[in-house]
Amino acid sequence: MASAKDIASIGRCLSNRLDAAAIGEKSFSGVIGDAPSLYSKSPRLWNAAFRHLQMNTVYLAFDVVAAELGNLLTAFKHCDSFVGANVTVPHKVRVMDFLDDIDRGAARIKAVNTIVRASDGRLVGYNTDGEGFVQSILQCQPNLKKAFLAKLDGMTVLLLGAGGAARAVAFHAADLLADGRLLICNRTPEPAHSLAAEIQKLAPAATAITDEDLPMWAPKAGLIVNSTTKGQGGIRKLADGRVTFMERYSALAPANPPAMAEADAGKSDSERTWSNVAGAGIEANNQASMQLAQSIPAHVRFYDLIYHPEETVFLRHGRLTGHPTMNGKSMIINQALLAFQRMCNAALQARGIDTPQTYRQLLEVMYQAW
Ligand code: NAP
Repeated sequence: MASAKDIASIGRCLSNRLDAAAIGEKSFSGVIGDAPSLYSKSPRLWNAAFRHLQMNTVYLAFDVVAAELGNLLTAFKHCDSFVGANVTVPHKVRVMDFLDDIDRGAARIKAVNTIVRASDGRLVGYNTDGEGFVQSILQCQPNLKKAFLAKLDGMTVLLLGAGGAARAVAFHAADLLADGRLLICNRTPEPAHSLAAEIQKLAPAATAITDEDLPMWAPKAGLIVNSTTKGQGGIRKLADGRVTFMERYSALAPANPPAMAEADAGKSDSERTWSNVAGAGIEANNQASMQLAQSIPAHVRFYDLIYHPEETVFLRHGRLTGHPTMNGKSMIINQALLAFQRMCNAALQARGIDTPQTYRQLLEVMYQAW
């Protein structure tokens, strides 16, 4: 049971209110991010899983600013009833500084999305994003009749983006590509080149390409994966502190969304004002995207890591031009299930239910809870 002192130490680090009553005598876990209490679906998925297995564990949202991240991890380390946490934007990289050990898979991605607390208090970091991606395409999901893709080996995968999520996808796809190839296309060339160089060490052919190369390469792919933020809903904070909107752009073409001061984004007519400035650029992006989608053979699959909105412009253009499509909901649920396995397998083993059947049931429970 978490002591009053534990609860106070954790609560002091958070920007949202810690629901101490929800913890009560339970063990607890949760998601660490800048503001997951405002948008994250993880508490719904995990709490449904805990309820299904009648586990005395609760899952909460921990909003924390970067300056308090180390203190929060220290408080978790000292709290016996903390079982582990997921990590989301923007702490997946910085959190690694505060862990006792990092799994090899997370180390190569250079980001952690899951922390497990060992019984001696050691905090170990994992990354389940890439495996979640692979499972979501290769295993039949509860809402589908068959898997999105039969296999990855021998396939040409075109990865759009070279940020944190792209790195997770790239390494895990590369593990299965065999004599296939990975093409990495990013607005900023450097991260694409360095990711391609890292992947090449594992054997599969990996090449960085530019936006200008897309019309030549996209029709040759078997699978196109968007791991950029182009198409994502909501307000997007930029590195310079300003904000923008990405939802109306397709990942298949360049996007230069105008930025505005954060204070202006809160005004009632901000999206309309922004649209007036952005209109011509959005039209150019959408036209180029549709033209390219039409040139890509219909068997090529379009996959988007984004799940809000459910259908991005990239996926809409894919669907309208006859391509099979899948959004990022299946990836986030599969990565959650893999993180659940990491965090709770000992508890499930003790009950003799650490089995594929249990995890298949939990996958269905999480889909229903979405
Ligand atoms: P990130 O590290 O910030 O990377 C952002 C990527 O988007 C970079 O490749 C960046 O290119 C590109 N980008 C941003 N603005 C762009 C623009 N205007 N034009 C072209 N490219 C642009 O973000 P992340 O963590 O990798 O996340 C990427 C997306 O994946 C997000 O939408 C996130 O929600 C989603 N995601 C989904 C799951 C899931 O389970 N379904 C898991 C993780 C992430 P530059 O390098 O040129 O800036």
